[in-house]
Amino acid sequence: MSDLRSLSKEELIVLYSKLEKDFQRIKDKNLSLDMSRGKPSPEQLDLSLDLLTISSDSLHVLEEIDVRNYGSLDGLLETKQLFAEILQVNTSEVIIGGNSSLNMMYDTVSRALLHGVIDSNIPWAKEEKVKFLCPSPGYDRHFAICELLNIEMITIEMLDDGPDMDKIEELVKEDKYIKGIWCIPKYSNPDGTTYSDEVVDRLAKMKTKAPDFKVFWDDAYTVHHLTDKPSQLKNMLQACKDAGNPNRVFIFASTSKITFPGSGVSAMASSEENIHFIKKQLVIQTIGPDKINQLRHVHFLKDLENIEQHMKKQAEIIKPKFDMVTTILESQLSHLNIASWSNPKGGYFISLNTLDDCAKETVKLAAEAGVTLTNAGATFPYGKDPRDRNIRIAPTFPSLTELKTAIEVLCVCIKMASIKKLLK
Ligand code: PLP
Repeated sequence: MSDLRSLSKEELIVLYSKLEKDFQRIKDKNLSLDMSRGKPSPEQLDLSLDLLTISSDSLHVLEEIDVRNYGSLDGLLETKQLFAEILQVNTSEVIIGGNSSLNMMYDTVSRALLHGVIDSNIPWAKEEKVKFLCPSPGYDRHFAICELLNIEMITIEMLDDGPDMDKIEELVKEDKYIKGIWCIPKYSNPDGTTYSDEVVDRLAKMKTKAPDFKVFWDDAYTVHHLTDKPSQLKNMLQACKDAGNPNRVFIFASTSKITFPGSGVSAMASSEENIHFIKKQLVIQTIGPDKINQLRHVHFLKDLENIEQHMKKQAEIIKPKFDMVTTILESQLSHLNIASWSNPKGGYFISLNTLDDCAKETVKLAAEAGVTLTNAGATFPYGKDPRDRNIRIAPTFPSLTELKTAIEVLCVCIKMASIKKLLK
């Protein structure tokens, strides 16, 4: 097979009928493979089992706090120190949350709608409308928060070094209803992009019509490297301080994909002023998060150096999976000129672009063949990919054997969807 776009209609029809036979053979195998969400594999989870064996003798910490009892609204000092080291901020700039950073993001947006943020004149929800910029492809759950909370989303194109800053600057300087932007600045979901220093600086510096514009900096994959040469992300909180906008950013992270997703520890970081402002409301929301789990994590993870070692073990398990996906895509598709894909240096996803108008059809065919992928469009606001071409591949959970089958099936489906489109 050569470049599909150079084939005649007749040649494409012959090829399609061959692929249909392959497709039928795959269907006859009654596969049931789920590649829809980025979850660690059981082998990765096994790496954190020692987390569960903390002795009851160690259930007390600095400042003599008894972790078994109520208290510590913003988390244990040791947990704050750990996240401060991970996020390169001061301990006084950290609030520890519960088991999910997404939950902290949801709460932060909700509080802004109900009460405003530190520099708001009125609560966001009292404005005529509220808009968020959504670099896309991006994380579907960020977009779902906006949809549920009635925040209008504006799609911003992701470029090689981060979101399209020219567009962002142009929009925020004119529109007072644009109150926020979602960013996954390192090994982004799903592109694997790390924002350049220039993008970080421009986000920190740009003039915004809304005095209370906020950057939601979801640093979910900050220690999730796949190579020995980690990408470097410029410190956003420092950049905001240097630009004279110290209160502009809310940073989020968690141990979800370091230890146990759903049973990890989350954190947010921001200027001391913002932290103080948030804590006044947080004290009404909760008496405090789970300190026993925090302590378990502190004992197990210890410090950034130890976390880096732990993440190397994770990478040893998942890197071969990423390599397997890109090798199959390369051998099956690169000569056909019908798809392109990312080659991430970290994070949890490979982002694949088909020809325009082929992603939905590909995902539908894959489902018929027993391979569940993330819904086409999910990586865009309102689930609508304007070019219907992006597919998010989550290689970490399946075994290598399952993954090989799933990606081979995916390649057949991409070829079929592409030929259908070319024949139109
Ligand atoms: N942020 C991003 C970018 C993610 O990809 C994910 C999970 O896939 C999360 C947040 C969820 O994090 P948590 O488990 O801390 O809520």
